Amino acid sequence: MLPSQELIKLPQAQSFNPHLKRPRDHCGIFAIENHRGTIPAAEIAFFGLQGLQHRGQESTGIAFVDSTGLRAKKGMGLVGQVFSRKEISAIEANTILGHVRYSTTGSSSLVNTQPLIAHSSDGHSLAIAHNGNLSNSSVLWQELLDQGQIFLSTSDTEVLLAYIYRNRYRSITGSVAEIMNISRGAYSAAIMDKEKIVAFRDPHGFRPLCIGRLGDANIFASETCALDSVGATFEREVQPGEIVLSSGGKLTSFIPEAGRQAKKTFCIFEYVYFARADSNLNGKNVHQVRKAIGENLAGKLNNNVDLIVPSPDSGTSAAMGLSEATGVPMDWAVYRNPYSDRTFIQPGQSYREIRAQLKYNPITDLVRGKSVAIVDDSIVRGTTARHLTRLLKKAGASQIHIIIASPPYLHPCYYGIDIPLASELALAQSNPKKMAEFIGADSLIFASLEDLYKGTGANKEDLCTACFTGDYPLSSPANKTIRGDQLEQPKK
Ligand code: AMP
Repeated sequence: MLPSQELIKLPQAQSFNPHLKRPRDHCGIFAIENHRGTIPAAEIAFFGLQGLQHRGQESTGIAFVDSTGLRAKKGMGLVGQVFSRKEISAIEANTILGHVRYSTTGSSSLVNTQPLIAHSSDGHSLAIAHNGNLSNSSVLWQELLDQGQIFLSTSDTEVLLAYIYRNRYRSITGSVAEIMNISRGAYSAAIMDKEKIVAFRDPHGFRPLCIGRLGDANIFASETCALDSVGATFEREVQPGEIVLSSGGKLTSFIPEAGRQAKKTFCIFEYVYFARADSNLNGKNVHQVRKAIGENLAGKLNNNVDLIVPSPDSGTSAAMGLSEATGVPMDWAVYRNPYSDRTFIQPGQSYREIRAQLKYNPITDLVRGKSVAIVDDSIVRGTTARHLTRLLKKAGASQIHIIIASPPYLHPCYYGIDIPLASELALAQSNPKKMAEFIGADSLIFASLEDLYKGTGANKEDLCTACFTGDYPLSSPANKTIRGDQLEQPKK
């Protein structure tokens, strides 16, 4: 049976041109296969998705098989808002595919909520959950439209699903391997049918995806913190380009030819901002990476600073590192209201400002008369730094120095992070002096890429740094044979 949403035939693939308007997701995946424990699989997925809530607060969904076949429960909002305990506990399935999502204007609707399901009357239905962005979705979309395909959503995830669904009779893993030949960009994803889950990462490995074990069940999760949330043990990361099949609790995997060809380019911004501090990425704990970056900034701190104040909570790890390395005390002088969402979540600048005001409150006694260094992980539009500077100046701080634990964010991301338009990055692209003026700070200091490489301990060739450098990995000659490269950003 088809879902009841109205079918949308997209007028032109052009509307999905990455340079114009397109869905931008940064999401989380949690899948559990073959669970036989006392707590039902759906409840485990519920807790796992809550562990990934920082990766997407706009909508959530789970797919599972019941007597009617493969189906999904989805809704707009946080995991705890969308699912009631009663309905989750009533799901008897041993295998669940779950997703949390956020996006920007234009795609913020229930039709784009994942998992997406392609239904068939012959029992070969497939569900997909995806984290990332296809950078050549326009080309693939057009190709499918020309062949008469219609779409139910405006998400590039449906392009992936449509291609994989076409070859479902042959094998899902084979079909996923074929996808690696034609799709470009970032995709850590999982596909589910009645018997199995197939998880895979794009050959560059832009976004994280790991494997855990809970009793007889295998788990695929975007981050290790979700495994911890459900008491699962970490087994390993899915390798870039790897396709892993879990069926009956058994894992098999392979890396197809296309998966082996690309250069590995893990997103550096996962370390900087996106991943949760208690997760491990590529074997390194994220909090410790951020702390080390803060330590690396010690030599750059103005020596008249009396107090280090983290931008809550994204600057905390780096602030700790900076404070430990310099001996300058750190205190919690800005309180963050934990019941307000992250500033980016609402589209539009005016909403962002209101959100920021609701979100932070200074502890006046701690900052009055002091020269304060505010530490944050990143600056994008400058909204947070400007707001915190105003707050602390109003609270009596004599000077404000802004310390950013990453380089200026100069270029849009086409691989799955919600930093949309070059025009919105104009401030960062100006120069640090102008930026400091806009923020109202006495000085503004950024970490260098070298500081980040040192902190992550990763080989710099293995990281995507496009947001800081404009060096988009998919422009590399090694990938010229793959379709859609005309849509890639030129190297700057
Ligand atoms: P802005 O206020 O526009 O300068 O954005 C920087 C603030 O947003 C910092 O506090 C970051 O921790 C946070 N941030 C950076 N990137 C993102 C993102 N992609 N989504 C949500 N928040 C972000």
